[in-house]
Amino acid sequence: MSEPALVTARERPVHRRRSSCRGCGGTELQQFLDLGRQPLANAFLRSEAEFGAEPKYPLTLHLCASCGLVQLIDVIDPEILFGSYLYVTGTSETIAAHNRDYASTVAGLLNLAPADLVVEVASNDGSLLRCFQRLGARVLGVEPASNIAELARGAGVPTETVFFDRLEGARLRESHGPARVVLGNNVLAHVDDPLGFLAGARQLVADDGLVIVEVPSFAEMVERLEYDTVYHEHLSYFSLAALVRLAAGAGLRVVRVDRVPVHGGSLRLYAAPAGSQGEHAAEVLAAVAEEVRAGLTSLDRLRGFAAQVERNRAALVALLKRLRAEGHAIGAYGAPAKGNTLLNFCGVGTELVPYTVDRNPLKVGRYTPGMHLPVLPVEAIRDRRPDFLLILAWNFAEEIMRQQAEFAAGGGRFILPLPMPEVVT
Ligand code: ZN
Repeated sequence: MSEPALVTARERPVHRRRSSCRGCGGTELQQFLDLGRQPLANAFLRSEAEFGAEPKYPLTLHLCASCGLVQLIDVIDPEILFGSYLYVTGTSETIAAHNRDYASTVAGLLNLAPADLVVEVASNDGSLLRCFQRLGARVLGVEPASNIAELARGAGVPTETVFFDRLEGARLRESHGPARVVLGNNVLAHVDDPLGFLAGARQLVADDGLVIVEVPSFAEMVERLEYDTVYHEHLSYFSLAALVRLAAGAGLRVVRVDRVPVHGGSLRLYAAPAGSQGEHAAEVLAAVAEEVRAGLTSLDRLRGFAAQVERNRAALVALLKRLRAEGHAIGAYGAPAKGNTLLNFCGVGTELVPYTVDRNPLKVGRYTPGMHLPVLPVEAIRDRRPDFLLILAWNFAEEIMRQQAEFAAGGGRFILPLPMPEVVT
């Protein structure tokens, strides 16, 4: 594998600011959370020489008064953000187990036959599609990051390197036939034109097929104060209400919604081509009404969320400062994109947390964007012997704490930063 070309401070990303909603075109966008100016959360730095020249962009959340979609308005050129991506799904055990379950659920639901085509958009290294291959299906990956697409092809998963939209959906149907399933896991929130994305899926899917998309749940994010999942790659934050409205706009009707625990709580939406078969399922509409009642489309509720975020920052910084003042050594675990939002928003740098560790070999040896924590291999915990580990990759907290049993047995303790900082032994 050739060395991936990373996003670096030398490449000046093209940045623009939207003035209208990416879901409905409405122009009343109400800001309720300001996370400050932040570097790109996956723009890990190669050397100290790059520290001075990091581009930073506003990171603010807005509610569309017309359709209720929560979104960023600052958009970075996707070629810069995703052209070569460091997140390889195959590296986590939690994700691998999730993929196996997911593939068998979908295969069972649709009674997949060997000739059936399964397309995944943003297929990453092909981990999920390999699960479908093992179940006997024909598969096709669509992955815009060329270095990652190459990994997938190397593993035997046919993969096209394109940005998916309405036209690509139609083109893929021409060249490969209709898809029984079009999957999009954690991609819809990343695209600036989510309506075009769903319309492309509508073009590609067979009449008796399903479009299945998984997005982080905005309801869970608010509930558990997961504000660190806000970063520039992540343009939309879907309440079920906003998502169902968007699907309808693309000619899809929502037949089912599952809540899945991955990535801090996600929504999995199953949609069929709209046509003679009627409306969204009644239980889907009931779930939408429940979210609206809970205030997820209300500016007041979202301003309350923003106030809690401020309290989290104050509490985390106070805890870390106290531990340092008491002479404790602190390290961090994980170098996920969300960790960088947390560190940058809270202003937690190397004076409080001198390093982090990560299992992803593409991140080890680099520095986190903005706060410049060196990323060390996980084995460094044994040498450095910190007293506390701040878990930045909190969605894998259980897996991490299991793997770090030796650290815990030696008296080490973990800090979970959200929803309020908590020390766990
Ligand atoms: Zn809107």
